[in-house]
Amino acid sequence: MIVAVAVGPKGIGSMADGRALPAYFHRLSVRAQRTWLKSDSIDHFELLPDAATLSLAAALINALPRGAPALIERSAQSLADRICELMAVSTVRVEVRGVRPHNTHGELHGIFYPRGSSGRPGPPLIILWMRTAQRHDVVKPRTFVRTLMHELGHYLDYALLRLDDSFHTTGFFRRESFLVRIVSPNRAASA
Ligand SMILES: [Zn+2]
Repeated sequence: MIVAVAVGPKGIGSMADGRALPAYFHRLSVRAQRTWLKSDSIDHFELLPDAATLSLAAALINALPRGAPALIERSAQSLADRICELMAVSTVRVEVRGVRPHNTHGELHGIFYPRGSSGRPGPPLIILWMRTAQRHDVVKPRTFVRTLMHELGHYLDYALLRLDDSFHTTGFFRRESFLVRIVSPNRAASA
């Protein structure tokens, strides 16, 4: 799908459907703008949930309250592996850590490194934190699953959609919600 950017005097800064472009869009290179627009134009993946995916998601949701990092990491990895397998892309490593890092802007839920972390260059890596910054509570299972789908969305931007970069476009957040829906059978039924 092609999304046209209006460039006439009245239309600067908005897309053909009237939505505003973020201010940073105009600071991107032409190539990066094309990547951004492509990201924004895709709202789902060609993916059907199956019993195995749903049971792996249920296993992760059950593992969270028990608070065992190794089990949570294994469960998150298995779910990521399954989704990658369904998408026919190579898998991405998922690492689960304890208390979320935080600063005045808030706390970090997860992060995706396309080429390994800065201290450890290598294959793509997702890091998820399983405890809140202030109270050190285990993160709510649905929040944790959404964070995993968010970071997986970044990975799929590169591995599946072959984008040069992974932007937080509206399309990106729709894809994240799509992934959350397909691994949440109850929500899918009520949506
Ligand atoms: Zn993100």
